[in-house]
Amino acid sequence: MPTRSWFELREIHPGVWSLSEPGHLEEVISYLVLGRDRAVLLDTGMGIGDLSAAIARLTRLPVLVVNTHADYHHCGDNHRFAEVAAHPAELPRLRQGWTREEVAQALLRHKIWRPLPPGFDPDAYHVPASPVTRPLADGEVLDLGTRRLRVLHTPGHTPGSICLLDEHTGIFFTGDTLCPSSILGVGEGADSEQLLRTLERLGGMAPEVTRVCPGHHQTPLSPDFLVEAAEAVARIREGLGRVEPAGEGLVRHRFRRFSLILPGTLVKDAPEPSPGSRARVATPGTPVRPASGR
Ligand SMILES: [Zn+2]
Ligand SMILES: [Zn+2]
Repeated sequence: MPTRSWFELREIHPGVWSLSEPGHLEEVISYLVLGRDRAVLLDTGMGIGDLSAAIARLTRLPVLVVNTHADYHHCGDNHRFAEVAAHPAELPRLRQGWTREEVAQALLRHKIWRPLPPGFDPDAYHVPASPVTRPLADGEVLDLGTRRLRVLHTPGHTPGSICLLDEHTGIFFTGDTLCPSSILGVGEGADSEQLLRTLERLGGMAPEVTRVCPGHHQTPLSPDFLVEAAEAVARIREGLGRVEPAGEGLVRHRFRRFSLILPGTLVKDAPEPSPGSRARVATPGTPVRPASGR
């Protein structure tokens, strides 16, 4: 089976490709954005398939990898590219890489729905250190020639999470900060209050956004997803909405297209979080799908 079958490549707008990995529970989505002079590859997926080979079929432009944040399932193929950029707060984790032990759970049998690509050795699977060469600042614009991507620092899920706005088309890439699944405001480096403030801020961006392109499961989504996120935060702050225990003192606030995993202390009458509640919990997994589909 050719390597490309691990990835699903779709041109969601002229010059903008989604690169999905539908064979894995995470259903990670990376994006290739083509300008006249160069291209940005937004995240590099799990590192199970060879994303650089897939990219080579789509463009000969020089490619700058931009990571929305440093969770390994978005950085898996960084090492195959010469230039990687990210927010400074994510750089130490990217430079460190992830050991075989740290990523082994990604290969559990029940998480993989398609044959692994030929040449992939499960026993050697790890995420090598990234060749990080470029820190990105809030407000910085990446000029690709006929296309400009504006960097927005959107902390919360991780300290250095960023979203990118294509200024011309209004396409908004949101990584794990806003995606149609479980959004984590807890775990290594996460700050739940910061995440809520970020989501409130994103709600105000809806008028300038035409499509929301998240890092998991479904893409593109309509800009009302941003409004839904801000309204969800308002409900949480008012102590309203559907709340379920999520273990270790955490709670899941469930909404129509996504849920937010937060410390129970943010909710009135919720149980006190245990000392272990800051431990890394599962990465986004089972999506919360809309009843009516995309
Ligand atoms: Zn993710
Ligand atoms: Zn993440």
